[in-house]
Amino acid sequence: MIPLVCEGSEPVIVRKSREVVVQNDFGSFHLSSYQVFCDDRTELHGVLRTSSLEGTVPVRLNSACFTSEVLRDKRCDCAWQISEALQKFSRWQKGVLIYHFAHEGRGLGLMGKIACYQLMDQGHNAEDAAATLGLPIDSRRFDSSAVILADLRVKRVKLLTENPRKIAALSAAGIEVAETEQLTNPDPDLAGYYEEKRRLFGL
Ligand SMILES: [Zn+2]
Repeated sequence: MIPLVCEGSEPVIVRKSREVVVQNDFGSFHLSSYQVFCDDRTELHGVLRTSSLEGTVPVRLNSACFTSEVLRDKRCDCAWQISEALQKFSRWQKGVLIYHFAHEGRGLGLMGKIACYQLMDQGHNAEDAAATLGLPIDSRRFDSSAVILADLRVKRVKLLTENPRKIAALSAAGIEVAETEQLTNPDPDLAGYYEEKRRLFGL
């Protein structure tokens, strides 16, 4: 049965697809999609998982990044991170990738992201650019991932990030974050991007 309202601010799965098997450069995975309702909106998630989800499961919460993942823009490392995560899942024969379509530009959307980039090209840092536009620099919520992990019967995870907000969101929802691992691209061209990320988000 599909719930019509979201009780309080708790995320609720309103629809999920069946699974299909997809094969990519990294191996064979099960693909499904989930619509999760919370805060008056429904957000779409793509979920890619390995066959086995026993024990501590490596998990990557991936925010959509059209500019990096599709256009291969070098302002950020999102395309590299998704490849790195899938390579690890393939090597470990275990893992779940949850892809948040609504998280483009840390929740700014593509319009807001491009407007920020334009200001950053004029010398603003990311924080000033978002503030100038009157937008929050990071409006993403990660608790929708917890309900998806619960639906997959995943209780204990190795989270492929050290983002404190992602760790806190899963922990608060009862998912045990047993380990974390930061995915950091050694490309020296990304040093400035990482420095800004550490300053603003603590990772
Ligand atoms: Zn990106």
